[in-house]
Amino acid sequence: MNKDLVQTFGVLINRAERVLIISHIRPDGDAVGSLVGLGLILEELGKEVNLVLEDGVPKVFHHLHGVDQVVREVSGVYDLIIVVDCSDIDRIGEVLDEYGEPDINIDHHPTNTHFAKLNLVRDDAVATAEIIYDLACSLSYPISLPAAEALLTGLLTDSLGFRTSNSSPRTLRIAANLQEMGANLPELYKKAMLEKSLEAVKYWGRGLSRIQQEDRLVWTSLNLQDRIEAEYPGRDDADLINVLSRIRETDISIVFVEQTDGTVKVSWRAQPGFDVSQIATKFGGGGHKPAAGAEIKGDLERVQEEVLEATRQSLGRA
Ligand code: AMP
Ligand code: MN
Ligand code: MN
Repeated sequence: MNKDLVQTFGVLINRAERVLIISHIRPDGDAVGSLVGLGLILEELGKEVNLVLEDGVPKVFHHLHGVDQVVREVSGVYDLIIVVDCSDIDRIGEVLDEYGEPDINIDHHPTNTHFAKLNLVRDDAVATAEIIYDLACSLSYPISLPAAEALLTGLLTDSLGFRTSNSSPRTLRIAANLQEMGANLPELYKKAMLEKSLEAVKYWGRGLSRIQQEDRLVWTSLNLQDRIEAEYPGRDDADLINVLSRIRETDISIVFVEQTDGTVKVSWRAQPGFDVSQIATKFGGGGHKPAAGAEIKGDLERVQEEVLEATRQSLGRA
C-alpha cells in the first residue's frame, strides 16, 4: 500500500472522534468482518464507532463479537465516514443519502469507482479484511482477539477457504498471524462457510432441480415461490453459486435470484482465464474477474435471457 495513503489515513483517524463505518447490502463475510474488525480496532484507539449495514448481519456471522453493535440506519453527526468492501457508492444501499461523499473507501474490487475523498483500493488483496490488517500493522494499531476473528472471517470467506486462485503464501501468513492472536480458524471456517440451515439446503434443492447447461455455461434461478416454500429468510442465493461453480464441466456459472422489488440479483463465477466482472459492469454491477454480481431491473425471464446472451457474447459464442 502506498505509504502516503497510509499516513493520510492515520492522520484522519487521529483527528476523528466519532467514526461511522458502513459496508454493502446483502453483506458477505468480508463486509461483516471488515466492518466489525475495523470498528473494534478503532474502538481500541478510543474512538466512538458506529457500524451500519442496511440489511443487518446475516445469522451465519452472529457468533462474531461486535456484530451486536451493527445497526441498520445512520443517524447522528460524524467526523469521519468510512465505507469498506464496496466498489461503488450504490452498494451500501440508501443509508448515506443525506450524508454526501464518504471520507474513506477501503476496498479490493478492480471495478472500484474511487467514490470517496481518500480511496485505499488494492485489487491484489484477497479481501478488504487483508487491507485493514495491513493498515493496522503499518500504523501499529493493536488487533484484539475479536478483531482478529472478524478479519480472519473476511479473509476466509472471500478466499472461499483459501481456494480462490489469488490465495497466496501471503494470504496464509496473514491468516497464521491472526491465528496466533488467538483466532480459531477451524471453528470460524465451520461457522461461516460449512454450516447451512435446513432451509438454505432446501432452497438449494429447488435451484439445483432446474439447473441448465449449454456448452461450458451452467445456470439456474431461484424465484420468490422457492424462497417462500423453502422458508428461506434471506434474499440472497444461500451461496448456491459456489455449488454450481464446482461443476467440473463448466467455465462460467450463473445464479438468478428474483427479488420482491422487481429486480433480479445475478451472480457470476468463472474459471481462471475468464472475466465476468466486465459482463456485470455492463449491467450496472461489478466485482472481480472470477466472481461478479449485479442487481438488474426486470422480470426473471427477461433478465435471464439478456444476461445469458451477454455472457454467450463474452464467450464469443453469440
Ligand atoms: P456475489 O455474486 O454477490 O457473491 O458477488 C460476487 C462479487 O461481485 C463480490 O466481490 C461482490 O462484491 C461483487 N458484486 C456483487 N454484486 C455487485 C454489485 N451490484 N455491484 C458491484 N459489485 C458487486
Ligand atoms: Mn463483499
Ligand atoms: Mn471483499
